[in-house]
Amino acid sequence: MTYLDYQATTPLAPEARAAMLEWLGGPDSAGFGNPHSAHRMGRAAAAAIELARERVAMLCPSGGRVVFTGSATEAINLAIRGSGTGGTVAASAIEHAAVLDTAQALGTLHSIPVSNEGLADLTSPLPSDTRLVCMMQVNNEIGVVQDSAAWQARAREAGALFLSDAVQAAGKLAVVDADLIALSAHKLHGPKGIGALWVRDGVQLDPQITGGGQEQGLRSGTLSPALCAGFGVAAQLALERQAEDTAHVAALSARARSLFAGWTINGSATHRWPGNLNLRLDGLDVARLMSECRHVAFSAGSACASGSGRPSHVLRAIGLTDAQAKSSIRLGFGRYTTMESLEAAAKTLINAALQQ
Ligand code: PLP
Repeated sequence: MTYLDYQATTPLAPEARAAMLEWLGGPDSAGFGNPHSAHRMGRAAAAAIELARERVAMLCPSGGRVVFTGSATEAINLAIRGSGTGGTVAASAIEHAAVLDTAQALGTLHSIPVSNEGLADLTSPLPSDTRLVCMMQVNNEIGVVQDSAAWQARAREAGALFLSDAVQAAGKLAVVDADLIALSAHKLHGPKGIGALWVRDGVQLDPQITGGGQEQGLRSGTLSPALCAGFGVAAQLALERQAEDTAHVAALSARARSLFAGWTINGSATHRWPGNLNLRLDGLDVARLMSECRHVAFSAGSACASGSGRPSHVLRAIGLTDAQAKSSIRLGFGRYTTMESLEAAAKTLINAALQQ
């Protein structure tokens, strides 16, 4: 199996796995303490969490704190629901469902249009009562990189907070300045089941999960030291290997783009994370391609939307027809993808598509 779905999730780094094992202790080990207990085992677990918090904070600007959550979806909910009630939440039309559905559920969503390249329109007016601007750094479906600095400036001008969904960018691209930043461990070779919200000092949030008052009162519930430790090591590794990983992904991307030369790239060809290739071949039957190429793990549109039968809201927002959206595939690759496996998988997909 060749795994080409790095935007859906990434393989756990062996280093992160090793760090987690220490905190998955059984009865004969000291690694199962409750990090919120006052005894020695509890304090050791709490220290592991604080070390992880420092490591995750390295993915973010200075001047804020990391709040661990169960996922980036939960972090985004805390940011949107916890930062106020009245006022409008403005978000690009191609944000993740965690943003769009949450703002929609609150009845406050203002959709910022995007160009055919997938770039959010910086000239589009924001409602005067905008209280929060949400902009993803890198889009999960089409890989487009937004001008986050310009959006942060626009949020400031509007007197609004700025939420950066950095799930697909953290550890890969330069840190974006923001008031709130959402992160997910499993997109950067950490474990599933843990995310984080970085909160700038001075930004007030109301907790959305109440109880024991953990995470500075913002997110009650016993933390998993194992998940935190895995997230921390994955974050540290991403930063240490950033240059090497980026060069590797750039080489893979250049090769993939030459192999898929006859296909159209959805979204900007230049403002994009190179580890994402969303490609379209008019007339392609993606469901058939998937069943014929079972040894290649790739996605039709977004992994979140796939299976729903609905055309992707992102591909629609950049102006694709339903037929074009349905003839698009997403290939995602990264640190552990070898050039040989990518070439072989690409050839398999291209040959199968040609025979349709
Ligand atoms: N934001 C983006 C850009 C994503 O790609 C995802 C996951 O696909 C999320 C948010 C949600 O992350 P999680 O799986 O941690 O809830």
